[in-house]
Amino acid sequence: MSYVDRMCFRMMAWCLVPLAASIPVAYAMDAVLKLPAAIGGPANQSDVPFFVGIIGAGISLILFAIQGFRLWRWRLGKTVDCIVCGCLLGDEREGRWGPYRKCLGCGKNHSARVG
Ligand SMILES: [Zn+2]
Repeated sequence: MSYVDRMCFRMMAWCLVPLAASIPVAYAMDAVLKLPAAIGGPANQSDVPFFVGIIGAGISLILFAIQGFRLWRWRLGKTVDCIVCGCLLGDEREGRWGPYRKCLGCGKNHSARVG
């Protein structure tokens, strides 16, 4: 796995979290909404579980678009790159020796004070 592959994986993997979280929530919500029908009550007519899944998928798509935009800017050379591997740097964090940014490819820390 190259540094660029690792960078793309680190950027895109967490974009699936809203979709992965919405599916069990939608199933659980559907099961709860079916309970009245199971004990002889009215049948479930609600589309809420479907929309919960759609909202999760929509949030995932938006996150993918944001990360894709970041990758596009990186390809154009308009971002701050790692001096070791050339990959994108993550968000600025506060560390023991001042602010730094972690490389999304090789994982090395780079001081945010210098270039
Ligand atoms: Zn790097």
